[in-house]
Amino acid sequence: MVYYMSLPVTDTSSTTGTTRHVDTLVIGSGFAGLGAAIKLTQAGKRDFLVLERGNDVGGTWRDNTYPGAACDVPSNLYSYSFALNPGWTRSFSPQPEIQRYIQSVADKYKVRDRHVFGCDVLSAQWDNDRNQWRVHTTKGDYTAKVVITAVGALCEPSLPDIKGIGDFQGEIFHSAQWNHDADLTGKRVAVIGTGASAIQIVPQLAKNVSHLDVYQRTAPWILPRSDREYTKAEKFAFKYVPGFQRLSRTLQYVTRETQVVGLAKAPVFMKPLQAAAEIHLRRQIRDKDLRKKVRPNYQIGCKRMLISNNYFPALSQSHVDVVTDGIDEVTADAIVSKDGTRREVDAIVVATGFHVTDSPMFAGIIGKDGRTAAQVFDAQGQQGYKGSSIANFPNMFFLVGPNTGLGHSSMVFMIESQLNYVVDALKTIERYDLGTVEVRQDVQDRYNRELQEKLSHSVWNNGGCASWYLDKHGNNTTLWPGFTFEFRNQTRRFDLVAYNSVATSDLPSPAPSAVADKKKVAAK
Ligand code: NAP
Repeated sequence: MVYYMSLPVTDTSSTTGTTRHVDTLVIGSGFAGLGAAIKLTQAGKRDFLVLERGNDVGGTWRDNTYPGAACDVPSNLYSYSFALNPGWTRSFSPQPEIQRYIQSVADKYKVRDRHVFGCDVLSAQWDNDRNQWRVHTTKGDYTAKVVITAVGALCEPSLPDIKGIGDFQGEIFHSAQWNHDADLTGKRVAVIGTGASAIQIVPQLAKNVSHLDVYQRTAPWILPRSDREYTKAEKFAFKYVPGFQRLSRTLQYVTRETQVVGLAKAPVFMKPLQAAAEIHLRRQIRDKDLRKKVRPNYQIGCKRMLISNNYFPALSQSHVDVVTDGIDEVTADAIVSKDGTRREVDAIVVATGFHVTDSPMFAGIIGKDGRTAAQVFDAQGQQGYKGSSIANFPNMFFLVGPNTGLGHSSMVFMIESQLNYVVDALKTIERYDLGTVEVRQDVQDRYNRELQEKLSHSVWNNGGCASWYLDKHGNNTTLWPGFTFEFRNQTRRFDLVAYNSVATSDLPSPAPSAVADKKKVAAK
């Protein structure tokens, strides 16, 4: 369904027919984009649209419907601060419940009519003549003074480049694109990958398949999952006792923040957590050989710490094998590992993660010097300023941008911090009638030098693992290197002084060629 009929959009000329102009375009409607729609509305902004390629809000929680999908951050914390949900049934909610929560927030704040669903953004190019963004989508073209990209880091599935994988004749799909029509009951199935998604999928698959091969490249550290159903009394208190749910949320927040010391500042403090993970492994796997196979050889926290109570027991079952020899090739009906063993399978689940630092979407964002975001990132890494803006991309704000990821707490907290910053930026633009704002390169460079210095002490950089947290330059451009309240403080207000800005009245008029273009189109 398309929702844009009630919007105050105005037509401008375009070579592709009607181009809609809005003041602000938001791309994507997961937690970040939906949050932006709500905060923009609350700030009194009416002239904005959210372009969403799916047919509903939810983002990664709409798309990841694999069996066992659930959050590994407690739900009371993994929700908007302005929309706590007394209806959570468990401490760590499953995907359908989270998706229902996101939908209910969209309804409660009445922002669905700001969305254009089924609208895939193909490119966004800064127009130097008109000082605005030209956005090309599968549902027509838009121009906008400001673009907020809220596409998230985990939206583009990464498929492994394995010899012959395209020739496989059975069912094969990525964890984020689960084929619910494929009945895997009684089948021989392989799962490639042992990350956050795989360890949730494997126990569910193991219940029904005849044989399961789990292809592990790097073993993850796994901690116990303290998940449980909320009691009736707790649910009552969440709903009716003022402050009870917020207190529970605050306690979860504070407990998680203590992990930052070990993760980001002094990895030696990760030792107690690693000891807890060792005990969990020993308790759950009796077989010494299997235990040796799945014991990580790097420091806990270097890759994302996972939580599960049913992954190790699933691996211990007689019809489940952990394969660590590496994949040599995939044939029409089998996976051949590097030691030459051929294992026949009917289906392959590819749980190999996402394009995080190399998202294909970056190739479609073209900045003021004509370079794409992909080219800029290729040259310098994914560097930004406060995760929210990037030099060369004026009037563009990024939610869940560079160095905003977390290894320990709720991304929704980071998103809300960014929303404070971006909404304040829009208010500042309006207050001073600014035509363009672009973060200063020198400010961005200094910011990134400081970030990388901080990160050089972290377990992510020193824990002895390879991870998608680090880009090809060896820089960690994904994670925030401190306490999340430090980020909240940094993003409370938009700091115009860090930006080059031009008043609308000082912007040069459109170049003659652009004016001629416009006349030509108008004459058609
Ligand atoms: P991931 O954590 O990146 O794991 C990908 C797995 O695939 C890793 O085990 C990786 O091995 C393996 N792999 C990648 N390429 C491979 C190849 N060519 N051959 C063999 N193995 C290969 O991806 P994910 O599990 O989808 O999770 C991604 C992120 O989503 C997580 O970090 C987390 O932030 C989020 N997530 C969150 C939840 C939640 O509960 N909140 C649940 C699921 C996912 P290596 O380790 O050797 O690279």
